[in-house]
Amino acid sequence: MSQDCIFCMIVAGKLPCGTIYEDDDLLSFLDIGPISEGHALVVPKRHVETLSDCPADLMGRLAGVLGPLSRAVVQAVGAEGCNILLNNGRCAGQLVGHLHVHIIPRHPGDGVFTEWPAQSYPPGRMETLLAEIRSRLPR
Ligand code: AMP
Ligand code: ZN
Repeated sequence: MSQDCIFCMIVAGKLPCGTIYEDDDLLSFLDIGPISEGHALVVPKRHVETLSDCPADLMGRLAGVLGPLSRAVVQAVGAEGCNILLNNGRCAGQLVGHLHVHIIPRHPGDGVFTEWPAQSYPPGRMETLLAEIRSRLPR
């Protein structure tokens, strides 16, 4: 547990939360500032900050509950789908430094996430970029 981590305090029962699901490794609860009704979070109970800090088996278990959890949330609020969002690192919008995945129910025309600033690659850049990325993958 990290002393000043809000999600560690929730996991430890020192702060209240609206629990949706709990097992030995994971906790899911309603987001206190929902983007849409039913907005939920899933966190590992162990304090890890980012994806790179999270062991693959723990991330695998977290990924494994996303299907049933998101289906239950979506059905409960009468949504048509959801965004699964992981803000990984402060510059990506991660305000709470304890890894968490957002489940955000979506309705047609709800106006959530209206911006998707798609760009395109100049000729040749995709190939150099692929080499840069692949050379950094673990072997
Ligand atoms: P992020 O920007 O990805 O770090 O998102 C953090 C999320 O945690 C936000 O959506 C907050 O509304 C949510 N949050 C912060 N404190 C609490 C809390 N005590 N209980 C439930 N959700 C919280
Ligand atoms: Zn924590």
